[in-house]
Formats: sequence, C-alpha cells, structure tokens
Amino acid sequence: MTRRRTVGRGRRGGGLRARLATQLTEEEQVRIAQRIGLIQHLPRGIFNPGSEPSDKKIKECVICMLDFEYGDPIRFLPCMHIYHVDCIDAWLMRSFTCPSCMEPVDAALLSSYETN
Ligand SMILES: [Zn+2]
Ligand SMILES: [Zn+2]
Repeated sequence: MTRRRTVGRGRRGGGLRARLATQLTEEEQVRIAQRIGLIQHLPRGIFNPGSEPSDKKIKECVICMLDFEYGDPIRFLPCMHIYHVDCIDAWLMRSFTCPSCMEPVDAALLSSYETN
C-alpha cells in the first residue's frame, strides 16, 4: 500500500497569493488597460537641451534622480514636467499623478479628450 500524496487543489494554503499574482479581477484588468491606453496618449520625445528655454529647463528625472542626457527618450506630462519614458510609465502604473507636482495626470488627459 503506497501512500500517495494527493495535493488536492491547494485552495487553503498559498491559494490567495497565487490568485493575486496571476489573476486580476475583470475590473482591475479594465483599469490597467485604460491606464496603459492613457499613458500611450501622453506625448513623448527625445531630450534635447537646445530646444528648451533655458530658464525653465528640467535637468533631471526625479524618479531615478539621473540627469537627462541628450537623446534620452522622455515623456511629457500635461503639467509640463518631463521624465524618462521608462521611469514615468512604471510610475504611472502605480500612481496617476505627476511625481513632481502631484497634479493628477488623468484629469488633464480626460478633459483634453472631451474638448476634442
Ligand atoms: Zn528616470
Ligand atoms: Zn508635474
């Protein structure tokens, strides 16, 4: 008589953690999809110090604390702050406000949709 270990479905043990990691509710998926869509609509460009007026030049990305370098891919927020594309995209997935001035990014975006 061999003792077979039936693991069952593991609903009790680490079930909750597995669910959180792999499965989002439909509502969460929709919100993430909407957020990605909004982020895609933010204008992006290449950092070019020569094209900006020197008095309001932003020199560093406050998310990673690194200075922008010529040619870095950057994203412009509606409040006119700029960040590395990778930095701000990751930030906006967690918090939809500007890390510098805390201005809500989606409010500005949504109102610009309405006027179009
Ligand atoms: Zn950065
Ligand atoms: Zn800002």
